[in-house]
Amino acid sequence: MSDTRHTKLLIIGSGPAGYTAGIYGSRAMLEPILVQGIEPGGQLTTTTEVENWPGDTEVQGPDLMLRMEAHTKAMGTEVIGDIITDLDLSKRPFTAIGDSGTTYTADAVILATGARAKWLGLDTEEKFKGFGVSACATCDGFFYKGQEIVVIGGGNTAVEEALFLTNFASKVTLIHRRDELRAEKILIDRLEKNDKIEPLWFHELVEVTGTDMPLGVEGIKVKHTKTGAVTEIACKGVFVAIGHAPANELVIDQLETHMGGYIVTKPDSTATSIPGVFAAGDLTDHLYRQAVTSAGMGCMAALEAERFLAEQE
Ligand code: FAD
Ligand code: NAP
Repeated sequence: MSDTRHTKLLIIGSGPAGYTAGIYGSRAMLEPILVQGIEPGGQLTTTTEVENWPGDTEVQGPDLMLRMEAHTKAMGTEVIGDIITDLDLSKRPFTAIGDSGTTYTADAVILATGARAKWLGLDTEEKFKGFGVSACATCDGFFYKGQEIVVIGGGNTAVEEALFLTNFASKVTLIHRRDELRAEKILIDRLEKNDKIEPLWFHELVEVTGTDMPLGVEGIKVKHTKTGAVTEIACKGVFVAIGHAPANELVIDQLETHMGGYIVTKPDSTATSIPGVFAAGDLTDHLYRQAVTSAGMGCMAALEAERFLAEQE
């Protein structure tokens, strides 16, 4: 059944940015509606330990996000399990269409749609996705007990995934296109101490190989970035961890973007190029992309939305 809901403040996204915006928006008596999207809780629900959320020496990502959801609800935000499929920012009130059939109209919108895993774009990567190729170690690592697997990438995600996968795999090869990791020192230190992980420098994935019936990975081909020599490595799983791209598809034609699709916001602000539309978290942040910075921007966005709405009245 289709219906229309009006709200002063619509928050799109349920990661740290969206939930924090909900807390501040509720305390400003804006009675926000927050639409969670396909991944309630956002990216942190795909990881295990989070060690840099202030106040918790260690907390599991999914637990932290459940706590944030409960906090947002307790403050008064209406949290809705829906996905926005279309957003019209050309006139106020802004209009968002939900996958459920609900139309949301809003006087102000906070975009907090975050980021999604990037893929290499190989045909064979696509072919084996879900059948040996994954971008989420916490989701799929369990299937590789006693197997040899590879992780592609050199950032925090790649190193964390490699470390986590040693809980299941007999050997993890970390394949990076350079010989220097982008990951934080504490993670590199743990990687170097882990006997199950073997780095392979100056290599990139060129092909995933395997069987068709049943569909499954048996190995990969990697190319040396300097010599061009191609080598085969036997493995049952391939975890691609080469970064994230902003989830901007709702607004790519409506808002200014830069640095590969991140939403441009005004200096020291979350205001976008359209008055009344604010962007927070990984959607706009090409530099830090952390839970705590996303939460900080969610706070800013709600405070700025409150100011914007007060000026309209
Ligand atoms: P996200 O967490 O990306 O959430 C985006 C939200 O938008 C989701 O809820 C999604 O469902 C919703 N959404 C998207 N499109 C729509 C739509 N059309 N309609 C409705 N909703 C939509 N950071 C740290 O600080 N510490 C860590 O230890 C850490 N570990 C990480 C481990 C991994 C494996 C990954 C991938 C990231 C990690 N990060 C970590 C980074 C951190 O997760 C992100 O910086 C943070 O989650 C960004 O928050 P966000 O609110 O901007 O968006
Ligand atoms: P990232 O920091 O952007 O690193 C991506 C890695 O993949 C880089 O090493 C990059 O190589 C490599 N890469 C990119 N494109 C490639 C390609 N086409 N082929 C081969 N390799 C490629 O991404 P991330 O590790 O996902 O981290 C994203 C953000 O989340 C970061 O801000 C990170 O700090 C944060 N995060 C934090 C934590 C934590 O705090 N514990 C955990 C996970 C993520 P180059 O180095 O050569 O560019």
